[in-house]
Amino acid sequence: MKTLIVANWKCNPTTLSEAKRIFDLVKKGVDKIENKKKVEVVVCPPFVYLSSFKFQVSSFKLGAQDVFWENPPAGGGAFTGEISAKMLKNLGCGYVIIGHSERRKYFKETDETINKKLKAALENGLKAILCIDKKSQIKNALKGIAKKQFKNLILAYEPVFAIGTGKPCSIEKARKMNFLIRKAVKINIKILYGGSVNSQNAADFIKKAKFHGLLVGGASLKPKEFVKIVKTM
Ligand code: PEP
Repeated sequence: MKTLIVANWKCNPTTLSEAKRIFDLVKKGVDKIENKKKVEVVVCPPFVYLSSFKFQVSSFKLGAQDVFWENPPAGGGAFTGEISAKMLKNLGCGYVIIGHSERRKYFKETDETINKKLKAALENGLKAILCIDKKSQIKNALKGIAKKQFKNLILAYEPVFAIGTGKPCSIEKARKMNFLIRKAVKINIKILYGGSVNSQNAADFIKKAKFHGLLVGGASLKPKEFVKIVKTM
C-alpha cells in the first residue's frame, strides 16, 4: 500500500499567482525526491485553481475539498453554486475530501449529506477521503455504500482539537483510534491521520501510530515544509 500524503489548502491562497507559486515549488520539490514510488501525493487547492493545474500534475494527483451530492445524468443541473463529481472528474481530479470538520461546523454538513456526497464521488470514479473525528461518524456516512466501492474509500482521522491548533494528537491516542476505526470498518482501507502535522511529527504517525498516510492543512501551504514531510516518508 502506498503512503498517501494529502495537502488540504483550505480557503488559501487569495490569488492565482500565489497558488501557482506554491504549486510549482511543491511540484519541483516532489519531482526531485528519489524513491518516491511508495508515496502518493495529492494536492487539494480551492475549486477555482483546479483548472490551472490540470495539465501540470505528473508526480502527484489533484484533489478537491468538497463535492455536491446531486448527480444528474449529465452531471449538471439547476444547483446554483455547486460543483458536481463529474465536473471534478473532467477537471482531472482523482480525489475529493468529504466531511471535513470545518464543513460540518460552518456549513452544517450532516452524516446524511456526507453520505450522499460520498456516493456521488464514488459513483463517478473519484477516490473519496472521508474525514471523521469520532468512530460513531462512520456508520451513517457509509450507509448503503457497496463493499466493492470501498476500494476507493479512504478514512481520515482528524481530531478537531488538533486541526489548525499546532497541538497534534498524541501518538498513543492516534494509534489507538487507528486501531478502533480499523476494527469498526472491518475492511482493509487506507486510514490517514490529520491535525497539526509537520515535518517533525509526520514520520511518527506513520511508523509508530501505523497510519497509511497524512492529511496536511497549514503545513501544506509552506512548500519547503510540505516537501520535507513527503521526504520523511
Ligand atoms: C486539515 O485541515 O485537514 C488539517 C489537518 O489542518 P492542519 O494540518 O492545519 O491542522
